[in-house]
Amino acid sequence: MISIKHTEGFAFIELNAPPVNALSLKMRQALLSAIHELDADEQVKAIVLCSALPLFCGGADIVEFSTGALWDKPDLPELCVTIETCRTPVIAAIAGPAMGGALEIALACDYRVATPDAVMGLPEIKLGLLPGAGGTQRLPRIAGLEAATQMILSGDPVKGEYALSCGLVDALLENDQDFRAHVLGFATRVIQEGGLRRNCMDMTVTHSDPKGYLTSFRDQIAHTSKNLVAPERCLVSIEAACEMPLAEGLAQEKAGFAELLDTPQSRAGRHLFFAERECTKIPGVTRADQPRDITSVAVIGAGTMGRGIAIAFLQAGYPVILLETAQGALELGLEKVREHFQRASQKGRLSADRAEAIAANATGTLSYGDLAEADLIIEAAFESMDVKHHIFEALDRHAKPDAILASNTSTLDLDEIAAVTSRPEDVIGLHFFSPANVMRLLEVVRGAKTAPDVIATAITVAKKIRKLPVTVGVCYGFVGNRMLEPYFREGSRLLLEGATPKQVDDVLETFGMAMGIHAMADLAGVDVGARVRQERRSEIAHDPTYQAVQDRLFELGRLGQKTGRGSYVYEGRTRVEDPEIVQISAHLADFHGVKRREIDDQEILERCLFPLINEGFLILEEEIATRPGDCDLIWVNGYGFPNWRGGPMHYADEIGLSQILERMTHYRQSLGAYGEMWFTPAPLLEQLATSGVTLDAHFDAKKEKS
Ligand code: NAD
Repeated sequence: MISIKHTEGFAFIELNAPPVNALSLKMRQALLSAIHELDADEQVKAIVLCSALPLFCGGADIVEFSTGALWDKPDLPELCVTIETCRTPVIAAIAGPAMGGALEIALACDYRVATPDAVMGLPEIKLGLLPGAGGTQRLPRIAGLEAATQMILSGDPVKGEYALSCGLVDALLENDQDFRAHVLGFATRVIQEGGLRRNCMDMTVTHSDPKGYLTSFRDQIAHTSKNLVAPERCLVSIEAACEMPLAEGLAQEKAGFAELLDTPQSRAGRHLFFAERECTKIPGVTRADQPRDITSVAVIGAGTMGRGIAIAFLQAGYPVILLETAQGALELGLEKVREHFQRASQKGRLSADRAEAIAANATGTLSYGDLAEADLIIEAAFESMDVKHHIFEALDRHAKPDAILASNTSTLDLDEIAAVTSRPEDVIGLHFFSPANVMRLLEVVRGAKTAPDVIATAITVAKKIRKLPVTVGVCYGFVGNRMLEPYFREGSRLLLEGATPKQVDDVLETFGMAMGIHAMADLAGVDVGARVRQERRSEIAHDPTYQAVQDRLFELGRLGQKTGRGSYVYEGRTRVEDPEIVQISAHLADFHGVKRREIDDQEILERCLFPLINEGFLILEEEIATRPGDCDLIWVNGYGFPNWRGGPMHYADEIGLSQILERMTHYRQSLGAYGEMWFTPAPLLEQLATSGVTLDAHFDAKKEKS
């Protein structure tokens, strides 16, 4: 876990607890006793804290946040105070990441040195927390109020150069094979210069107007931190650092941390943190399934998605060849890709040379013969089974053996697409979200015959292009769009029953959704949904009111933002209520015999969210998604569900499954034939709600068994 090496009178404490040197109770105990032992040794001139791993330390063991073991003695704040108050100077030697509690330990040391590529940050705010082991007290004293506030409130890490410029580290040392020798040189200089103790107890925050600065910072983040509890708590704690002696500030910080730890927002943050760690563990895919080598990529279709996918791969360094049916479409697609990189260079995000070099990596063709060398081919052509069949037949003839054949379909049956090839094991769905070069989510769709190494390759490649891959099974809409369907259905039906688009959207946006249902439909295009429904007539024919308002808007050519009118009218990008929608809705309600009434906000929220959650239960039962966290990642990263609520399935656990069951049953009974049609609780929801088991506990138990 740790080892101690003595060199020329200096003691190096080397952390060695793979994978990330987490500051678990055992690690804290080991560090505390090492510090005590070395501090008592008169021969030790200085103590150096360093790591045997490629990172300094990943910070606290977050599992302990749920078990309560984080408070077991010595806790992290106590360990930091011990380091801070020991007789011997302590130097933190940081190479690689030093995150959260790790940086807090470094801040308690007298000196910090780092490599230029070291990454230092306090990401606690991303877990709905504040740095609770001195981060909010020591960082402003050491790095200055402004740098500290930025780091703590953004949670984003900084690198060596910046850390040196703001005083967070005292020196940058080359990250070469002689790193230890450089550290030794630094430590020797410290001792030659008197070996001064330099801890935060003797420092104050120096700033001409801390109150003024924090007030304007608060105003700046008011919009983005709306609904969040941690930012204000962090600011209060930083204020304490400006006004109080260290010990008092630390006590206040610790109380703030404990308070936040127990909030739904922090539970949501931790849930998503673990969900991201888990989501690449896929049943049936083992370490033996080595990813295939992917060095060149082809994209079929240079429309909205094809271009975005090409850009995502190009910026990760892959050469990309685009295939289209006609020269004009191909040239337009390539031009748009080039323009993207030109704009990035004009905005200063890329050097002109780099932008040009990346864009030159994009080529085009009209011939399948030119795809013969591609390792990964992603189809992003029209959403039609005939088109997909035609393309996959051609791919089967021209792609090299072992090439991975992927489809970006959002709704079509991947197994049906794979069936036209002689190699369904090489076929996979890669469902990107629009804009594909920006959105982090990637649904990796596993067909019935997709080979495990093809899935392993998709996960590896997804990470290289900085996506979050969540593996799902084949069904209509996979996970994201399947859960979207009841949510949209209710949003539309509520208009018939008497709500307005604004009322529905206001409720959902107040809940925290990035955008309400009707604004989202207007943005995506009313025609997109209408065309999908035309393909699915037989499945929804039993409900004549199904998306009736949206279908009427489509007939009227009110296609949303692109035509300036949809559920709203648009003045520029500003949406304005349109009384005509009420007339359209009332007329349709009359036609379908739907009684109109006042609908309260609580009903809107429950009617939209609970069927969506219920669909998630069905998806889990059918094993289309492996775990609730996967559904949550999809909704948070692809559909604007508030991350501080942890995703729909976590939210269900938070408010209680029995409440969801009770309300689903209520609407089933109170909405007559419509309720009977759409509000049947999923068997898994019924089972867990009646037995009082949370979804999380149920899946934890399932994991233990397997
Ligand atoms: P689009 O209409 O913008 O682009 C499709 C492109 O494919 C066009 O340029 C067209 O010329 C080309 N094309 C059509 N048939 C072809 C063929 N046989 N060979 C080669 N090229 C062909 O469509 P899009 O929005 O980019 O959608 C593409 C695919 O991505 C669809 O399957 C869609 O369901 C899926 N998708 C779309 C979104 C979205 O938000 N637009 C999101 C996720 C997935």
